[in-house]
Amino acid sequence: MSYTQPNGNTDEPLRGERIAVVGAGFGGLSAASYLTDAGADVTVFERNEHPGGYAGRIERDGFRIDTGPSWYLMPEVFDRFFQHFGREVEEFYELTELEPLYEIYWKDGDHAEIPSTRQGQKQLFESYESGAGSKLDDYLSDAAEAYELGMDRFVYPSRSRLRDMMDLDIIRSVRALPKLRTMDTYVKSYFTHPKLRQIAEYKLVFLGGSPYNTPAIYTLMSHVDMNLGVYHPTGGIASVIDGMVTLATDLGVTIHTDTPVTSIEPLSRADETRQQFDITTGKGPDRNTAETDGGRFDRVVANAAPTHVERDLLPEEYANREAYWNSRTYAPSAYLLYLGVNGEVDGLEHHSLILPNDWQPHFDRIFDEAGWPDDPAYYVHVPSKTDDTVAPDGHEAVVILVPLAPGLEDDTETLEQFRKLVLDDLAETTGVEFRDRIVLEESACVSTFADRFNAPEGTALALSHTLGQTGPLRPAHRAPGVDGLYYVGAYTNPGIGMPMCLLSGEHVTNAIIEDTRKTGLLPPVVPTSTFR
Ligand SMILES: Cc1cc2nc3c(=O)[nH]c(=O)nc-3n(C[C@H](O)[C@H](O)[C@H](O)COP(=O)(O)OP(=O)(O)OC[C@H]3O[C@@H](n4cnc5c(N)ncnc54)[C@H](O)[C@@H]3O)c2cc1C
Repeated sequence: MSYTQPNGNTDEPLRGERIAVVGAGFGGLSAASYLTDAGADVTVFERNEHPGGYAGRIERDGFRIDTGPSWYLMPEVFDRFFQHFGREVEEFYELTELEPLYEIYWKDGDHAEIPSTRQGQKQLFESYESGAGSKLDDYLSDAAEAYELGMDRFVYPSRSRLRDMMDLDIIRSVRALPKLRTMDTYVKSYFTHPKLRQIAEYKLVFLGGSPYNTPAIYTLMSHVDMNLGVYHPTGGIASVIDGMVTLATDLGVTIHTDTPVTSIEPLSRADETRQQFDITTGKGPDRNTAETDGGRFDRVVANAAPTHVERDLLPEEYANREAYWNSRTYAPSAYLLYLGVNGEVDGLEHHSLILPNDWQPHFDRIFDEAGWPDDPAYYVHVPSKTDDTVAPDGHEAVVILVPLAPGLEDDTETLEQFRKLVLDDLAETTGVEFRDRIVLEESACVSTFADRFNAPEGTALALSHTLGQTGPLRPAHRAPGVDGLYYVGAYTNPGIGMPMCLLSGEHVTNAIIEDTRKTGLLPPVVPTSTFR
């Protein structure tokens, strides 16, 4: 299917453009597909052995364990992606809607399952606080409104530049929303019980924020899980990546894995119409070789962290935003344990949150005084509860994820102590003990994200969605100061998470088409610095 322009034409506006995509995460693969569909000749360079970026998979001894994302939310965005190319999600993977959505163990011994139905959710809320059931209706309809406003006005149409926000209609809608205060203050206006507030607020961790530093516009996340549901793709999230790779390859994208880009050299304009770039590659970390030496391209779309691109890949004279990158709030990193367990893991659902009754000290350890938490809030994923393709018969796949401050030192001794602290805590809080039945074990932490993905400060998520890093204040798709270089993925708009990264591929394609259309010459770049 060729590119459908806003006016309904279906030509190939990027025919003749050679475009390099650096990184094969969700954003990179999405951009590669849209760009190819719009007629460009696209080559993807990925430093690791497999495409997927953070969405990786450990495949060993009959286990297939996702190493990154595991909550498949906002299914409509995945549908929109595949349908653009005339394909359906069902051609690539099967979805199961989860019931309950997830469960919570509190460290005071309390336990709650969050049902997928509104009736069940209201009963649960009412059991904690008289009147909270009907307040939940109000809260969730407000969240739905924030979601619809956010998606229809800002996210789908890529309104991320300051001038887009100047539209009067938008200003009126924003005025109507008292959502620029923090999420914590906002949620308190609905619910008094601290456990209900935690249910409304925990999903901010998905955005790399805390209830104390994230604007209440992100109440829309409550609509995302409690109204729209939580899903699991058979085979795990890596099956979604497999589907995206199949699609991209079918469209004609060339993907080189194990091929890190080591430099992006902007060339002086070769002719009147286009900037060009020389891409150089180095040895891959897994096979110790590169599939290609690189090549010359008209444009480059970087899915790798912009911080890495500007610090390590561009010539020094182009990369002068060190103060800017140093002043950013990087989203949390994480400690992850990937386990294959012999026998059943009774007592845990597909998704479980283990929460201290007072979680502020853990957030403080992430955002204020970086340090290892003494009483962590964490998440346990047991996909084999729903999906028998992820573990061999008679086994379970278990992933434990503890959010941590980015940039923490993670030496072997600290990791060993923290592993013990978390597994002791899990056994004590949930009664689940499987340490003598572990048959596969791997882990990841801050340095893994820094080393494997070139993630600044080893962040597991990119830049937090603080007020100062949202919308026009987030890094733009057009890289400042380098005509023809673009950013896609979680660092840019719309932001963190698989659905957002899929959309950023669509938006960056639109930006490139716009740039080629306007004058034939690339327009002067709107510097992000204007919006700092
Ligand atoms: C543990 C964890 C749990 C998460 N949970 C969820 C969840 O449940 N739901 C959800 O929606 N999201 C979740 N997320 C967030 C989500 O995974 C990310 O937002 C998304 O996958 C990021 O995609 P991206 O397009 O930014 O690319 P990335 O995944 O960041 O990929 C960038 C790619 O660039 C490559 N690269 C870097 N430097 C170079 C170079 N020099 N040359 C070539 N290639 C290079 C990297 O190897 C990588 O493959 C989670 C993330 C993590 C880590």
